[in-house]
Amino acid sequence: MTVSAFNPPQRILMGPGPSDVSPRVLEAMSRPTIGHLDPAFVGLMDEVKARLQYAFRTKNDMTMAVSAPGSAGMETCFVNLVEPGDTVVVCINGVFGGRMKENVIRCGGKAVAVEGQWGRAVDPQALEEALRAHPEASVVAFVHAETSTGAQSDAADLCRIAREHGCLTIVDTVTSLGGTPVLVDEWGADAVYSGTQKCLSCAPGLSPVTFSGRAVEKVRNRARPVQSWFLDLNLVMGYWGSGAKRAYHHTAPVNAVYGLHEALGILMEEGLEAAWARHARHHGALKAGLEAMGLSFVVPESERLPQLNAVTIPEGIDDAAVRARLLADYGLEIGAGLGALAGKVWRIGLMGHACNRRNVLLCLAALESTLSAMQAPIETGVAVDAAMSAYG
Ligand SMILES: *Cc1c(COP(=O)(O)O)cnc(C)c1O
Repeated sequence: MTVSAFNPPQRILMGPGPSDVSPRVLEAMSRPTIGHLDPAFVGLMDEVKARLQYAFRTKNDMTMAVSAPGSAGMETCFVNLVEPGDTVVVCINGVFGGRMKENVIRCGGKAVAVEGQWGRAVDPQALEEALRAHPEASVVAFVHAETSTGAQSDAADLCRIAREHGCLTIVDTVTSLGGTPVLVDEWGADAVYSGTQKCLSCAPGLSPVTFSGRAVEKVRNRARPVQSWFLDLNLVMGYWGSGAKRAYHHTAPVNAVYGLHEALGILMEEGLEAAWARHARHHGALKAGLEAMGLSFVVPESERLPQLNAVTIPEGIDDAAVRARLLADYGLEIGAGLGALAGKVWRIGLMGHACNRRNVLLCLAALESTLSAMQAPIETGVAVDAAMSAYG
């Protein structure tokens, strides 16, 4: 039988994830698979843990990568920290906050939704009021970087408010980790999850998570076992936990862990602060170009994520047709709107390895030529210059 190999087309990934994966990460992932309890792999797990502590800015011992994508990190936090009957205040300012609420309900918890405006940060005052109205609440959940709109919330403030009301926090940092400051210990956040495929520029499939001592305590003292066997931290801790002899729980995706180790190594070489500064710099140039073209941002400037730029689609322009052309003519992927913003915005990612000057200029030029060919009401001939002057 003759079968053909799958050879993916060459793309530049400037959507909401996955982002371009560094060749160094791809090369690391192609190294020989070894046993997941091999002493060499156990040593690698310890290094990955230390590197994740660096990325998350935490000393939490319970820091590891869940063997599944970001959504599984989300689920890990909820199934472990929410018991049936628990009241959880969920801040919702986009698609991912909505998923958090769904998680609470499926865990048998009572979700109190703090509904915010899409495209805005979570309002701390609204959280404060919800907690006053619900003194029985034990957990507060919110999304730090809402990828569906491009808004960033003030995690330090939200964690402080939650703590003042005796609540643990669950924080989604899938899109922020490696792109904008995620300061787990400084915030005093309790259960924080992320993903490998956004600003860490690693292949999709793993979810870094970290749990504070308070959160681990709560998981250890649950009245009933965690409903999910696979995501039960009491069991996973025996596998990823330090010191103690590792016990078989599941088989880690060995080569994916090689990739994460390399991606975190790249982040450490650059330095977290330098990575944050790079995301801010290229966002500044992209923004200058998009605005010169006449496109406008969904999120007010002070609440905007540099790594996820949601801009409104010009009047009368077919969203899908533009994205299809960018893909066909330039190999360039940008994201569509999600949820309430579907068909209304594009989401242009500047994440990790893909966040560079070449991509900013290519995206502006490609978007301009595509839109002007469709007679869109935009300014032409100015975007690339505006971006160049933003670079200075
Ligand atoms: C992408 C994303 C997720 C889900 O991650 P997957 O890797 O797609 O499962 C969760 N939350 C936010 C904010 C995201 O951007």
